[in-house]
Order: sequence, then C-alpha cells, then structure tokens
Amino acid sequence: MTISIHDRIALASTSTCDSGLAADPWTFDGMPGYGPGASAADPIPDPVARPGQLPVAYQRMSDDELHARIRAAKETLGERVVILGHFYQRDEVVQYADFVGDSFQLANAALTRPEAETIVFCGVHFMAETADILAGADQRVILPNLAAGCSMADMADVDTVEAAWEALREVCGDDDTVPVTYMNSSAALKAFCGRHGGIVCTSSNASTVLEWAFEQGRRVLFFPDQHLGRNTGKAMGVPLEQMPMIDPRKPDLGVDPQVLRDARVLLWPGFCSVHRRFTVEQIENARSRFDGCKVIVHPECPMPVVDAADASGSTDAIRTFVGAAAPGDVIAIGTEINLVNRLAAEHPDKTIFCLDPVVCPCSTMYRIHPGYLAWVLDGLVEGEVRNQVAVPDDVARDARIALERMLAALPKAP
Ligand code: SF4
Repeated sequence: MTISIHDRIALASTSTCDSGLAADPWTFDGMPGYGPGASAADPIPDPVARPGQLPVAYQRMSDDELHARIRAAKETLGERVVILGHFYQRDEVVQYADFVGDSFQLANAALTRPEAETIVFCGVHFMAETADILAGADQRVILPNLAAGCSMADMADVDTVEAAWEALREVCGDDDTVPVTYMNSSAALKAFCGRHGGIVCTSSNASTVLEWAFEQGRRVLFFPDQHLGRNTGKAMGVPLEQMPMIDPRKPDLGVDPQVLRDARVLLWPGFCSVHRRFTVEQIENARSRFDGCKVIVHPECPMPVVDAADASGSTDAIRTFVGAAAPGDVIAIGTEINLVNRLAAEHPDKTIFCLDPVVCPCSTMYRIHPGYLAWVLDGLVEGEVRNQVAVPDDVARDARIALERMLAALPKAP
C-alpha cells in the first residue's frame, strides 16, 4: 500500500501528553508522583517514594560529556558489568545495553553473564528486583535512578494483598484460591505467591499459568493488572461474571459473597497507565484511514481494545507479528511509544505507527537518563556501588519458588 506524504506527516505524533517531558528527569526527583508521562496522574503510595539522587555536577554535564563518560566507564569495566535495557527504554540509554528485551528476558540474559559482578538494569524497580532474585550470589544489581518505579506494580502492596487474602478466605472458607501475580509486581508479592501455593506470570505465558492455577484450585486471585487477568481469562472461555473485580479497600472486598465463591478469576483494580490510553476509537480511525491496516495491541490494554484489534500479545509477540508482516503492510500498534518507534526504524519497508497520536511514554522508564547511567558507571570505576537494589534473602527465597513454578508450568498440548 502506498501512503502519501500527507498521511505520513499525519501519522507522526505531533503532541505530547505532558509538557514536562521536555525537562530533564532529575527536575522531578524528590517531587511526589511519577513525573511526566502516562502515569503522571496516578497516586503514588507513600512507602514507595524513592527520591532520586543525581549529583548536580552530572545534571550540568552536556550530552556529549555524559556519553563520553559512559563509553569510557564501559570500556574500563569491560566484562565486570552487564547493562540491560528494557524495550520501553529511551534510545539514548538503550544504545549502551548489552541486552535489550522485556523484564524476564533481561533477567535471564543476565544469567548468561556470570562473570559480570554488576548488572545495571535500565528499566524499573520491580525488574531490578527480579534480576537480583535470579542473579548469582556474587552479582549485584543497580537501578540507575531509584525513582524509576512502576505505577502498576505500586497499585498492589503486600499488606493490602495479605488483608484481601484473609477476607477472601473468611468468605470462601476453603483453600481453593491460588494467588497469581504478574511479573510487574514487587518482590514481596512474588514471595507472597511463593508462600501461598501461587505463581508468577508474564504477558507471554499468562494463559499457561492460569491453566496451571486452575489445576491447583477453584479460583485465582490475580494482581495487579486487571486487564491482563480479564483478557487472559476471557480468551480461555471464563465468563465475565466469573471474573469480578474486588475492591481491596473494603472489608467485604466490595463483591457479593456468593459471587466471590463462584468466581474463577478475582481481579485486582490495577492497570498500566501507558496501555490504558488505547481506545477502540483509535483503532477505528487507523482502519478508516488505511485499508487493510493491521492492529496489534498489548494485553494490558482494556478488553474492548483487545477485542477490536486483529491480535494482542506481549512485546515479544508484537515484535514477531511485525517481523512476519509483508513489505508494504501498515501496522498500528498499541504499546509504549519507544518500542513502536524502534520497530518502525527496524522495518523501513513497512508503515508502523502507534495507535495513540499523542506521545505519552511510560513515566517511570523516562526517569532513566544517560546522566544517571554515567553516574552509576563512574561510581563502579571508582569502587563505589550506587543505587543497588537488594532483595532480602527470605523474600528472594519465597519469590524464587513462585518464579520456579512459572518456569515449570508448560502449555497444554493442543
Ligand atoms: S509501561 Fe506500564 S507496566 Fe510497564 S513499567 Fe511503565 S507503568 Fe509499569
């Protein structure tokens, strides 16, 4: 399909969701909230506030100086350090990554470099925790900016989940509930699942994990992402009325007791602010402008969006979908803008654009800037470990149980 220059310009995103995106991220370190970007308006829970600490000298360095420092430190450190870059990370940082991938791929990639004493994770907090859980005993993990949390992961904390778990057991009066946490959650929640016969899932293996969970019990408590839980359950044939969303702030969880007992998937009211932005209207617009336009979205998108798309899948599935498309195809993608732009650059023979015409990156990924990367790498050269993320041993032990259950869960034969 031929696309006119006019359409190409119209396809390009021309506005951003937040004027603060033009500022450097350290401007927002120490301020409440997640900073500019998709999750700017999400309430940040108090215990999760993580002040940034980039020294002023690094804030004042030019881009050229920062990049020269990163290159020099990387060369000096050699095999002693491995840098991981998440798919959603900005290009100025990703260019230094030894591995680029999703959170679980990256944690596993680090295992292939046991000689690296330091893993620098250019992602967000829960990813650095997962890497620390899976890393060797002699490896440590650094998150260049500790203010890089994840608003979705922060929507479920272990105290609230424990309270909801107890309330649920009182109503259901049995041991027939299996906790399932999305990879995008704190280590404490992965450990909770490990202690209570539960499991971790990713967006790639959510249906396999739910199948495993249904073999262990009658119902699943799925947190923190309601959309991944609902979309996965629906694709497996679970009726919507058997997937109620609980309100963990209410003593009775805000759901009729009989509905709780009959449920197969109990959803937590969490969401990703990046993927929540995608709408059915955006899909209709893309299709009305381009005959044959294919639409693929991430399963963290709301159910009507997933239903309206041609396909849905993890970041890896989206990459495969784009790779398998024919030259000249037009593909509209519902996921984070940095990944979409990178795919567009990798496939110049196809027209690839983000469904959302407004540039609105993940606020928390945005917090990692070359300034922080230069600062932590310089620290390693000087023998100082900055911004280490270390999961306590007892938490890591229980979390590892839930992760190992996930690795052992295999898809059912068709
Ligand atoms: S894209 Fe969404 S789920 Fe992923 S790190 Fe950002 S806020 Fe969290």
